[in-house]
Amino acid sequence: MQRYHPWVFSGAIAHKPEDMIEGETVRIVSADGVFLGVGHFQIGSIAVRIMSFVDEPIDALFYERRLVNAYKMRLSLNLVRPDNTIFRLVHGEGDYLPGLIIDIYGDTAVIQAHSVGIHQDLDLVTNALRQLLPVDVVKHLFYKSEGTLPYKAGLFPENSYLLGGEDVDEIAVENGLRFRIDWLKGQKTGFFVDQRENRALLEYYARGRHVLNMFCYTGGFSVYALRGGAASVVSVDSSAKAVSMTDQNVSLNFGEDPRHSSSSEDAFKFLKQLPEGEKNLVILDPPAFAKHRGAINNALQGYKKLNLHALEKIAVGGLLFTFSCSQVISAEQFRLAVFSAAAISGRKVRILHQLTQPADHPINIYHPEGEYLKGLVLQVE
Ligand code: SAH
Repeated sequence: MQRYHPWVFSGAIAHKPEDMIEGETVRIVSADGVFLGVGHFQIGSIAVRIMSFVDEPIDALFYERRLVNAYKMRLSLNLVRPDNTIFRLVHGEGDYLPGLIIDIYGDTAVIQAHSVGIHQDLDLVTNALRQLLPVDVVKHLFYKSEGTLPYKAGLFPENSYLLGGEDVDEIAVENGLRFRIDWLKGQKTGFFVDQRENRALLEYYARGRHVLNMFCYTGGFSVYALRGGAASVVSVDSSAKAVSMTDQNVSLNFGEDPRHSSSSEDAFKFLKQLPEGEKNLVILDPPAFAKHRGAINNALQGYKKLNLHALEKIAVGGLLFTFSCSQVISAEQFRLAVFSAAAISGRKVRILHQLTQPADHPINIYHPEGEYLKGLVLQVE
């Protein structure tokens, strides 16, 4: 029985040709010569990312088929609507395309390569995308891989460029809310598409509450809280640029809304200075504290400390939305870190919801590593 895991680790390879070039397409066969899969070779511990378990060429038609399937799935999930023009079209292994991310923001598609193979197949990918979404639907294709490719791929001087016109509309819509997307310089592909459903849940609980949105970035949670009828919303991020993007997105939807204020400060410092009981809905959505296995212990300490600070300050009856987007930290480990924080704080804490990533970030069941976003909604007494 085959496990269909899409990664082949370098230690599992008995023989490989001497002259293999990074990014090239290779066929994997078992010791007794049986075909196993076809994928992209890369130097590193993940030696091959399997593109197909069928013996087929990884060509224009292959990418077209994969992209059509990915798009059909998003259509069937009702994610493609006039009031929702932001969605993830391709989520790497979750769409059977290891190394490829495509996010759609209105009339712009942002393409990101996480493997040298995808980088080298960029023309095939963009042509397939053009077949699927012609110019009158998606005007601009933006290739943004300067931070995601290994050193070797730096042989190509430009890993980040626009393949389209200049008249870009940077405003896109998520669940009827408008956001200006800085896909040029923003983090990831410019926006955290993966928090869409969690933001919608927050909106549902926001009425009359005093909201503190820590690590606000582009202000997604703040904008949803305001629409949900929050009494006040404070957005905090250590980056002044992020705070200004949040302010812009708030005014894009609500004009000068006196309920909203923002602050460019370190989250830990801000929480320390916060008076007890002032906020009764707190969001903690920090950047990944652990980017690799070696950093897990420090990261767990970080989550514990951060959640402790919030639990010490949140009002009685308050709700805490707390997240981890570290792929190397499991839901159990994260929950244990939050448990430790709760125990130290001495407060009564109940889990109301266990959150994860939305359906346009699917997890291939044979690739459990694809599950990265974890969240808990806690009620604190
Ligand atoms: N919640 C956001 C995504 C958060 S991304 C959303 O839904 O879109 C993480 C953010 O944390 C980044 O904007 C980064 O600038 C900010 N950040 C990183 N370290 C921080 C710190 N110590 N204090 C406050 N913000 C920090």
